[in-house]
Parts: sequence; C-alpha cells; structure tokens
Amino acid sequence: MKNSGILIVVSGFSGAGKGTLMKRLLEKYDTYSLSISMTTREPRQGETHGKEYFFVTKEQFEQKISESGFVEHAVYCKHYYGTPRDYVENELKNGKDVILEIEIQGALKIKEKFPDALLLFVMPPSIDELRRRLIGRGTETKEVIEQRLQRAIEEAEDIEAYEYIVINDDLEICVDEMHQMILASHNAPTRNLKFIENMRNDLIDLSKGE
Ligand code: 5GP
Repeated sequence: MKNSGILIVVSGFSGAGKGTLMKRLLEKYDTYSLSISMTTREPRQGETHGKEYFFVTKEQFEQKISESGFVEHAVYCKHYYGTPRDYVENELKNGKDVILEIEIQGALKIKEKFPDALLLFVMPPSIDELRRRLIGRGTETKEVIEQRLQRAIEEAEDIEAYEYIVINDDLEICVDEMHQMILASHNAPTRNLKFIENMRNDLIDLSKGE
C-alpha cells in the first residue's frame, strides 16, 4: 500500500537552526515539498522573493486572508506570516509529504485543522549555542533579538503539543533522525485508518470463506 502524503510542521526557537536543517533535509531526500510562506517582514540580506518567502505588503496579506487564501496565518514579532493554501493542498493530493516551517500559533491551528499532521519541534543543544547562533547571525538588531527571545520563552510553554523534539547538534545526524521520525510516523495506525478498516473487513470475509 502506498502511503499518501502527510503534513509535517517544523517549529523551533528563532536561532535553533531550522532553516539550515530544512535546506539539508530537502537536498538529501527528494520526497519532501517545502511550503513557501508569505510574510510582511522585510527581506534579510540574501533573501529573495519566492525563495525564502513571498514578501508582500500588509494590504496584500490582508486581501489574501479575506479570500481564505491561507491554511493558517499568525502574527509573529509584529509581522504577518501565513501558509498559502493552494500549494499545500495540491502537493498533499499528489502524495507528497509537505513541510511547513512555522511558529507555534500556526502549528496549533494546523493540528486542529489537520489532526494527522506531524508536529516536530527543533531545539538547540544548549542555551549557549542558541545565544551564539542568534547573535552570530548578525542580521538582527539587539531589539529584534530581545523580542525573539521573549517569544522563545512563550513558545517553550507549549512544546508538549508536539509529537517529537529534534535536537539540532550535529546537522547530518539531525537530518537523518528527522527523516526517520517522518518515515515511522507514516505507519501510525491513526494515519492508516482506511487500510486498517479494509484489512478488518477482508479478515471477516476470509473467515467466512469468501
Ligand atoms: P523569520 O522572520 O525568522 O523568518 O520567521 C519568524 C518565525 O515565523 C519563525 O518561527 C518561522 O518558523 C515562522 N513562520 C514562517 N512562516 C510562517 C507561516 O507561514 N506561518 C506561521 N504561523 N509562522 C511562520
């Protein structure tokens, strides 16, 4: 039986290394589709429209909300972020595993709408490492870093809503672990209800000699 695609939500504190992790996962395994979000925040140096994000104005974002164009959207550190609906629905229909790299409010909304979604939370190996990555990135002002640390404190409250934590220490090991978690999740009974139901019916037929 071929599994159909599942929705995979990846969250984690700013600076936990989600971006690098996602990039490597997609390079290494070709079974995943990464959803590109829309945001009203300014592009960082080196980011391009349509690659990291679709960068839009507040008006354009609100227009898309009014058209029900997002599967979820949230406000994070004073900016809108949202997952465009069409891409996700089409890729899932085509049997792809679709990854959403989103923050916790969005993750909880996805879990409500798609109970089969797999929620993974990326954590740095230590707080010193988080500090080093967040400051070392050099792309954010002190004020933005402080806002993001505040958000990390809030987000840490809800980590138990996720199915697995992923500790981002060694990149290659971490990517492989994540891939294994996803593969295993495909075989959870709750994600194979139809297959199980058919097997039960076939068993009954078999016992009747049909
Ligand atoms: P950044 O500004 O660092 O790229 O992203 C800030 C936060 O917004 C990160 O936690 C990122 O995962 C999250 N984010 C990115 N896209 C989306 C989205 O479409 N929806 C939600 N809810 N969060 C998102």
